[in-house]
Amino acid sequence: MPPSISVLVTGSELLDGRANETNSHLIIQALAECGLAVEHVLSCDDQIQNIKSSLDFLRRCSDTVIVSGGLGPTSDDLTREAISEISSKELVLNRACLEHMEAFFMKRRGRAMDPSNQKQALFPAGCRIIPNPAGTAAGFAIEIDAAQRRCLVIALPGVPSELRIMVSESVLPALKQKYQIAESQVYNRRVLRIFSVPESTVGSRLSAIKPPQQVSVSYRAHFPEIQVMLKALPAEYPALELKALSERARQAIGNDHVFSESLELDLCQVLHQIFVEQAITIAIAESCTGGLLGSMLTYQPGSSKYFLGGAITYSNESKVKSLGVTPRALEQHGAVSFEVARQMAQGVRQSLGARLGLSITGVAGPEGGSAEKPVGTFFVGLSDPHQTAAYHCFFNSSRDKVRTFAAWTALDIVRRLSSGLPIPHPSQCRGNS
Ligand code: ATP
Ligand code: MG
Repeated sequence: MPPSISVLVTGSELLDGRANETNSHLIIQALAECGLAVEHVLSCDDQIQNIKSSLDFLRRCSDTVIVSGGLGPTSDDLTREAISEISSKELVLNRACLEHMEAFFMKRRGRAMDPSNQKQALFPAGCRIIPNPAGTAAGFAIEIDAAQRRCLVIALPGVPSELRIMVSESVLPALKQKYQIAESQVYNRRVLRIFSVPESTVGSRLSAIKPPQQVSVSYRAHFPEIQVMLKALPAEYPALELKALSERARQAIGNDHVFSESLELDLCQVLHQIFVEQAITIAIAESCTGGLLGSMLTYQPGSSKYFLGGAITYSNESKVKSLGVTPRALEQHGAVSFEVARQMAQGVRQSLGARLGLSITGVAGPEGGSAEKPVGTFFVGLSDPHQTAAYHCFFNSSRDKVRTFAAWTALDIVRRLSSGLPIPHPSQCRGNS
């Protein structure tokens, strides 16, 4: 009999439109890595009778139920009470957990723990505690007798970042053991993260290398990047061959378009590594992206090593006053132009004494476009002590997407130049919309 695993996601905010439910997806994905499938996903609000009736249904048809949410300190956090009632195990205080929480508050928040948090140290008698490395609410696992079977109920906090780490560090190892999942049943995966090539082109370039049928190839358009995942069971396609196939796929797509081969390493982190390794400092001047570029560049802890600062110069006056853009360039070419992008990049580099100056000026829309410079037109300027260049790009989409695409393009241009890779011709500078 295959394992029967179910998921219960609790939270009124998931059922009244305030929050998007993502935890079940996260759990399903993690379990799928080891070939474990989920049979039911149920959502319920925070009322204790609804949590209990959902659990009662699931425990009768599953041998594992993973519950997300409702382990917090507030009056609507009732998962521990519901599980205690349904398992007929009273809630008992776990001293070690309480002390851990008190220390957590002192160290991380600089204050004593609020008495309401004490509730989070209560667990059904006889359960196994699942540590939470990212927050206060520990999870727990308890066996409940159900009709003709024993059901393992695993309760995890609802905060997605906490749930994610607890699933990978505690739940998956426990389930692998429970269901005797051998390493040979765990998929090997290779990921290619791509920017600046449309998904359809990625698809046709990959089909050309004819991946063997033992390898599953899947695409995820996660704007503005495309992710390709190659997945195979070790017994059907050895890890080394999968690695070689991934390398062929990379070459077929275009080596320079692949900015990362890890889900843990995004574009901001790739640039972080480049800046730190090459001891590059950078200053930025942004117009249509309104701070997005600065936000991306300061996303990584430690970005102060290379990010010196920047200016959001939205008006023509601020471009002149803060960056030294000449009124003549603005008059002759307009704010969205090669010349102004160049002057912005050079101006900010010189005024902040950075090795690189990076600029963006463009038309994010929906208004402000013209026949010559339609919505989606933007220029990226890049200046170093030896030269200053600008790149003309075009990406016609919603305002939000144009801005995101422009910020990514600017960072991608820096990535390419710092790694000795070519800059795609502007006409190729497109992604999926
Ligand atoms: P807390 O200690 O924060 O109260 P908790 O275990 O009680 O943790 P919840 O109160 O249910 O968890 O949710 C905490 C946060 O996580 C909320 O912002 C909620 O919107 C979010 N969240 C909860 N469940 C899900 C879910 N299934 N998908 C996505 N987000 C979720
Ligand atoms: Mg809560």
